[in-house]
Amino acid sequence: MYDVVIIGAGVTGCCIARELSRYQLNACVVEKGDDVASGTSKANSGVIHSGFDAKPGSLMAKLNVEGNALLWKLAEELDFPVKKNGALVVATDEEEVKHLELLLDQARQNGVPGVRILSREEVMNMEPNLTDKTVAALYAPTGGVIDPFNLAIAMGENANVNGVEFRFETEVLQIRKKNGKYELETNHGTIETKCVVNAAGVYADKFHNMVSEEKIHITARKGEYLLFDKTVGDLFTASVFPVPGKMGKGILIAPTVHGNLYVGPTANDVEDKESTNTTQDILQVLTEKAKANHLSKRVIPMNKVITSFAGLRAHQDKHDFIVQEVPDAEYFFDAAGIESPGLTSSPAIGVMMAKMVSEKLKLKEKTGFVSARKGVLKPEKLTDEERNELIKKNPAYGNIICRCEMITEGEIVDAIHRPLGAKSMDSIKRRTRAGMGRCQAGFCTPRTMEILSRELRIDMTEITKKGGGSRLVVGKTKEL
Ligand SMILES: Cc1cc2nc3c(=O)[nH]c(=O)nc-3n(C[C@H](O)[C@H](O)[C@H](O)COP(=O)(O)OP(=O)(O)OC[C@H]3O[C@@H](n4cnc5c(N)ncnc54)[C@H](O)[C@@H]3O)c2cc1C
Repeated sequence: MYDVVIIGAGVTGCCIARELSRYQLNACVVEKGDDVASGTSKANSGVIHSGFDAKPGSLMAKLNVEGNALLWKLAEELDFPVKKNGALVVATDEEEVKHLELLLDQARQNGVPGVRILSREEVMNMEPNLTDKTVAALYAPTGGVIDPFNLAIAMGENANVNGVEFRFETEVLQIRKKNGKYELETNHGTIETKCVVNAAGVYADKFHNMVSEEKIHITARKGEYLLFDKTVGDLFTASVFPVPGKMGKGILIAPTVHGNLYVGPTANDVEDKESTNTTQDILQVLTEKAKANHLSKRVIPMNKVITSFAGLRAHQDKHDFIVQEVPDAEYFFDAAGIESPGLTSSPAIGVMMAKMVSEKLKLKEKTGFVSARKGVLKPEKLTDEERNELIKKNPAYGNIICRCEMITEGEIVDAIHRPLGAKSMDSIKRRTRAGMGRCQAGFCTPRTMEILSRELRIDMTEITKKGGGSRLVVGKTKEL
């Protein structure tokens, strides 16, 4: 029997797992996907929010500001990419300027450092590509960008190194309380645990409602994006937001931490919690925004779009995070309603949850907790001499597999053999960026498959895009 089972290996579940791995306990993360970050954590804006947007006094505001502060330290400790590029909310008329004052007041109440309103001249000096209609902007210097997969991967790997077990492709179907413990019925048998942490993203209401009479409700709020090539990634330095609306922070234009540019996300409530397809109508809306966005004076060329994608926010009816021991279900903990800024807040959610669970179970801290981790070795970050030295020692680092992102065989082999190593094409992509570039894996797919097949000693027909039945090839043409 486990002490704790965490449902969901998104960024929330992984951060909780990492914080709990500081204690002496027997813990497991159960995930229906084949990898960490296979739900909402893989499809979002990747913005490190500073915290001016959340309602003062809410748990969301508190955890956003705390999470922001923690992320910069964690990025060094666990070696994942972040950039403090700042955030701008741009007002294009006097009415919108009034809204900036409100946001500034909120920022002060939430304790966000350094937020101020910039004049038109100041902001245009900072971002010359802003529209001529710009009147003023709210500037938050602690805004940043992050690689969302790598945050979850880093936290998950570190939790695993510190003893937390991960069970992938394991779907929780039912939860029962029996003889003072919880039984989780899964597609791979029953798992018993003293304590459950529900970090199931858009499905967190389903599990909460299985054990509690006080029901909660989560709506999937879809956000679609257009992602552009790195050649237009320099349009803006900061993440550029419009003045927010009723449905959220609005459609922004921002650089990613890797130097691409995106326009999005939209916000539409959907019934289907698996609906991560992109839709023609919405893409048309985004295309129009990109061509004539009121935030940018430069037209963004549509032939630079490399892909579109969508993510689902776990919007809880009261629009706040729920991080609690469920009042009428002892030993059952929720991390529910973790919508934006959930990515930014996740390290703080991890700390808060670990404190609650460790106090409840009277856990003792362990000695020998490994706090640091090294990410996948990136030859591009080395000097020419260092890279040559590396290639001499291991020629796989001289063999380019993904030409768009210049990813080597050495990086892919590293991604496969590290803790919680990659087993599918998407998991290679998330760890190394092979397949993320302009050609969207057109060139590197067969070569990456060959490496996976060789390293995992499996047949090419067993290689999947993302686990389950998502096989890429069915056999050799001449044998069919
Ligand atoms: C469009 C959009 C933009 C966003 N932008 C930002 C941003 O810029 N900055 C920011 O801070 N936040 C942002 N967010 C929010 C952020 O992405 C989420 O808050 C965060 O990823 C939620 O992580 P999670 O781990 O709670 O959920 P998820 O990542 O969805 O993880 C839940 C996991 O539970 C698993 N699961 C579900 N049911 C079961 C089951 N029955 N059995 C086993 N496993 C199960 C799922 O497979 C999934 O992996 C955005 C979200 C969206 C959708």
